[in-house]
Amino acid sequence: MLRWIDVLTFAKYGNPEPSHRVEKTEDEWARELPPARFRVLRQQATEPPYRNAYCRSYEPGLHQCAGCHSPLFDSATKYHAISGWPSFTQPLARNAIRYLFDESHHMQRVEVRCNVCGGHLGHVFPDGPAPGGLRYCINSESLVRVAENTG
Ligand SMILES: [Zn+2]
Repeated sequence: MLRWIDVLTFAKYGNPEPSHRVEKTEDEWARELPPARFRVLRQQATEPPYRNAYCRSYEPGLHQCAGCHSPLFDSATKYHAISGWPSFTQPLARNAIRYLFDESHHMQRVEVRCNVCGGHLGHVFPDGPAPGGLRYCINSESLVRVAENTG
């Protein structure tokens, strides 16, 4: 189980190696992704709170990266954080997520990206529920939910 100290260690000293990497030019991403997904995944935009696909949706399944379809989060770790965005307590794997310090908007936050393609997902905060205490606050546009047993 990942804890805040692990998140800070990854952001400061380097992230775990992903299983593989998907690398494309921004032009290629722009051609492949719908505009709303491109803005979030590749330009670090934040979608509107509450008016997004998975905020209030708790059906079972795996949440994949909308850019490269790497599995990121299981619905079993999704919880109601009253933040306006889908929130998870843990990623599927230790090396699924890339952590980066983000000092934009006059805040000190930790940005989370897909570790395979580098797509922006959202941020992680140390105010999640026990036992891990993490809250992964993720844009719905960064995610695609699929049934557990596909693929
Ligand atoms: Zn990805």
